[in-house]
Amino acid sequence: MNAGSLFVVSAPSGAGKTTLVKLLLERDPVVKHSVSYTTRAPRPGEQHGREYHFIDIPAFVAMRDRGDFLEWAEVHGNFYGTSRRWLQAQMEAGHDMLLEIDWQGAQQVRQIFPGVVGIFVMPPSLAELERRLRGRGQDSEETIQRRVAAALGEMRHVGEFDFVIINDDLQEALADLCAAVRASRQRFACQAARHPEVFRFLNAQQ
Ligand code: 5GP
Repeated sequence: MNAGSLFVVSAPSGAGKTTLVKLLLERDPVVKHSVSYTTRAPRPGEQHGREYHFIDIPAFVAMRDRGDFLEWAEVHGNFYGTSRRWLQAQMEAGHDMLLEIDWQGAQQVRQIFPGVVGIFVMPPSLAELERRLRGRGQDSEETIQRRVAAALGEMRHVGEFDFVIINDDLQEALADLCAAVRASRQRFACQAARHPEVFRFLNAQQ
């Protein structure tokens, strides 16, 4: 049995998932972030091996066909995948692992690890999400509408997740996310794997 818990965090873009996860990782050093593979180009400030492993399409397809990915999906025209071997090694070492992936990936992970904890980050309203997706007002209306439609597609899967964090006030949302992570660790299967000594007497002959 793995001693580590597995968390999947999904959200539409504009919900503030990446900021919340970054703050969670600073507060909770037990949780480790899985670094995905992607075919999208790095954004300014992103580093190979830190935010993502940036690879080209043939390399991604070769990994996928070898079965190297625990899950993979095409999101906004790019491929993304989670390394199976790396994740399993981390979990066997007792780390709590967090995957920041989309709903398609979350569905695949649920099939493989029924004990996975799904956390979905929601914006407080559609109007607020649209405001955030409009950003600095530099994008065309068509681009914004495409982003809103993609966000709606992601949010339609919110009911498949165990916890929903509504990100209106950032500090409150962070406290809720930390609470969800902490509560998940107290489930029997996690406690039994992490602290077998606490339960050993129950199996002893009386
Ligand atoms: P971005 O390119 O903005 O970093 O991420 C775009 C979307 O891809 C986000 O919804 C993000 O959660 C998702 N994503 C990132 N890595 C993975 C992955 O390894 N697998 C899956 N299925 N989705 C991912």
